[in-house]
Amino acid sequence: GTAQIGVVGMAVMGSNLARNFASKGFKTAIFNRSYAKTAAVLEAHPEAEFVGSESVEEFVDSLEKPRRIIMMVKAGPATDATIETLIPFLDQGDIVIDGGNTYFPDTRRREKMMAEKGFNFIGCGISGGEEGALKGPSMMPGGPKESYAHVGPILEKVSAHYDGEPCCTWIGTDGAGHFVKMVHNGIEYADMQFIGEAYDLLKAVGVSAAEAADIFAQWNTGDLDSYLIEITSEVLRQVDAETGKPLIDVIHDAAGMKGTGTWTVQEALNLGVPAAAIAESVFARAASSAADLRKAAQGALSGPDGTVQVDDKEAFIEDVRQALWSAKVIAYAQGLHLIKVAGQEYGWDIDVAACARIWRAGCIIRAKLLDRISNEYAAGNLETLLEAPSIAQGLSDANTSWRRVVAKATEAGVPIPGFASALSYYDLVRAERTNAAMTQGLRDFFGSHTYRRIDKEGTFHTNWSGDRTESEAVDAH
Ligand code: NDP
Repeated sequence: GTAQIGVVGMAVMGSNLARNFASKGFKTAIFNRSYAKTAAVLEAHPEAEFVGSESVEEFVDSLEKPRRIIMMVKAGPATDATIETLIPFLDQGDIVIDGGNTYFPDTRRREKMMAEKGFNFIGCGISGGEEGALKGPSMMPGGPKESYAHVGPILEKVSAHYDGEPCCTWIGTDGAGHFVKMVHNGIEYADMQFIGEAYDLLKAVGVSAAEAADIFAQWNTGDLDSYLIEITSEVLRQVDAETGKPLIDVIHDAAGMKGTGTWTVQEALNLGVPAAAIAESVFARAASSAADLRKAAQGALSGPDGTVQVDDKEAFIEDVRQALWSAKVIAYAQGLHLIKVAGQEYGWDIDVAACARIWRAGCIIRAKLLDRISNEYAAGNLETLLEAPSIAQGLSDANTSWRRVVAKATEAGVPIPGFASALSYYDLVRAERTNAAMTQGLRDFFGSHTYRRIDKEGTFHTNWSGDRTESEAVDAH
């Protein structure tokens, strides 16, 4: 065969990605389980150099060796089924890439299985939706590094670019790429939750949807410059044709989700990484969709009506901007910390600076701030983003505003789980002493779980049920 790359799955993502490959001059083989979709793509895009096949065998044969095949199919059993149909026709050294939103343990399992058969398997997180797939997404490939040398240049060519640099780089072995994509989505949940909270607070001081659209557009010219802030302005500006109201006011307030946010939080829990602002964002979506819970609580609970009283509206709007920026930084910090810990835990040795670098364009969380974040990680081996000088300074400058917003919202009864959680994290991690001493005391009281002391080595237990003297506990191991 002569095609340089093959795409399996001609739904929205696959067909757009295939067009992207073709537009960059790669001869692209295309295949879909049911031929109708392939035929439709061939018919709609005569300009593209496609090689369409009706059978898997024909498709695999149409590719040059070692083959590069990227699957864009429904994540889960469909991915396994697609791999199984490819295997009989593959040769040693062929490379199969999964570009779907796969849960990273599945990628680890598949990579191992494929390696045992002599095939290379790359799990590649892709972000940017339909338009990104067509014009340049952010790509997060993980798998055997040697095989990246063979597919990397092609992926990098079709990926988004920021200042001429591709938004695609090898992330690490087996599931590393899909892990990073998962965390990207977790951060995306938080970003969106914070935007919602900011809009709620603008409304609470009497700002209309149209005015808020202008405010977000204005914010998008500064340090908050990002895709999500940009499209927030567009969503707010949209007027419903049927009712004449702002569309935002007629959209049902129950958020959907597909799982990646939940996985991020589950993984944070598994690894013991505090990522509460991201978790609050997932829980906020769950709460929004818990109709029965909300109905029962609405009938029973009272409190302030959500109107924020301020003397200087403009100053408060600026406070909200500062709070939004600060919370956003916390979500990045939590997500990147999770990536760092996971990299160590799973043996991926992920370059955190590179993750931030390839998120600067193409993906949903693309933001100007990511350029600074990436530079900060590249400059020093950061334990947390929050210790980076420019970030710490920015948070310090925004601190009073952020606190004022949380206090005002709390007083007024505006729910701000994201802003408040992010601020608590800020205060928790900078605290010299946490309330965990109390937890340890209580655990020792009811369960003899022992505690350590601040002034000497060793493990101690107080005889709570007896004379209350302290003894040094014998180490369990
Ligand atoms: P879908 O997730 O809707 O998947 C449709 C494709 O999967 C079709 O090609 C379909 O083939 C194939 N498929 C479904 N079930 C099976 C099966 N049992 N065996 C073989 N093939 C099967 O398509 P999208 O284009 O929306 O997404 C593709 C992938 O990209 C997904 O993993 C998605 O999560 C991911 N993704 C999507 C983004 C987005 O914005 N939509 C963004 C980033 C990633 P057939 O036509 O024969 O049914």
